Amino acid sequence: MLAIRGATTITADEPQQIREAVAQLLREIAEKNRLRAEEMLFILFSNTADIRSLYPAKAAREAGFVSPALFSAAEPDIAGALPLCIRVLVLAEKEGKAAHVYLRGAASLRKDLKKFAVALDGPSGSGKSTVAKLLAEKFDILYLDTGAMYRACALYAARAGLSEFTEEAVRPLLASLPLRVEYIDGAQHTMLGEEDVSEAIRRPEVSMAASRISALRCVREKMVEMQRKIASERSCVLDGRDIGSFVLPNAPFKFYVTASSKVRAERRCKELRAKGFAVELGAIQKEIEERDANDMNREFSPLVRAEDAVLVDTSDLTIGEVVDTICKKIQEKV
Ligand code: C5P
Repeated sequence: MLAIRGATTITADEPQQIREAVAQLLREIAEKNRLRAEEMLFILFSNTADIRSLYPAKAAREAGFVSPALFSAAEPDIAGALPLCIRVLVLAEKEGKAAHVYLRGAASLRKDLKKFAVALDGPSGSGKSTVAKLLAEKFDILYLDTGAMYRACALYAARAGLSEFTEEAVRPLLASLPLRVEYIDGAQHTMLGEEDVSEAIRRPEVSMAASRISALRCVREKMVEMQRKIASERSCVLDGRDIGSFVLPNAPFKFYVTASSKVRAERRCKELRAKGFAVELGAIQKEIEERDANDMNREFSPLVRAEDAVLVDTSDLTIGEVVDTICKKIQEKV
């Protein structure tokens, strides 16, 4: 007999959220433990007292788990408990080692079982990367700047003489792309072979090239594979455009960080001027809007707010306030 434990969270006490969360939890438990439907004997749920709109057991029935015996109980209202949490114990007719499954906010309950990832998505210049670095420091985990990877790809393709980025032209280059991400004292260094291109990829012309090359499916598939591998090895904060929606759809913490295009352009201008580039606000705002359009309208894995990502509008917030808001949201679930 296997006793498999699991838990998940929802963001509001709504029947549809409970249905989806329960179905996902049971599906993953079945998959990870290679269970056939008839091997599941009992499914016992408990949920925090703030969940009242639907019994998880009823949601399980509705999701097609009809043969096991089902039971639901509400937990007492305990101060400090992870809110809006559904726990499960599945008893199954099988031998071996149980693979427990902790999803969404509940992943933070069992850091021993599951590495956790914080997904920060949003448009260019929303302040994601600064926030991501500070969060990584605060939680003592890795920061992966996925934009740097697309930038390095664009730099590599441009150096190879490509001016038009098409699937046909770029795909053959990817086989020999010598891209690596290294960490020195916790700081990401983006490498093309032995060359550290961390500075070179920040040039304004590389931004636009990265925006164009990142629309190619072959490029995204290669980058996403690398990103998933890094995230599977360590807890990390990843910033990008499609982390919560595509790269790590099960990340327990997802945020969509945005700001008006004017505010973002002002920030980008300040940053570039500080580095000695002579840039003009109107042109930067136009470029940011063009990159937004590229990111949001591309066919494969566009920039979207994942359904379960918390929206953080940074237009009127300082970086410190954004970090505090996000930390609070993470800790609310811990
Ligand atoms: O974030 P950053 O501006 O450095 O990203 C450079 C470009 O890479 C973006 O304009 C975007 O088009 C692309 N990108 C992406 N998906 C990511 C990260 C970046 O498409 N996860």
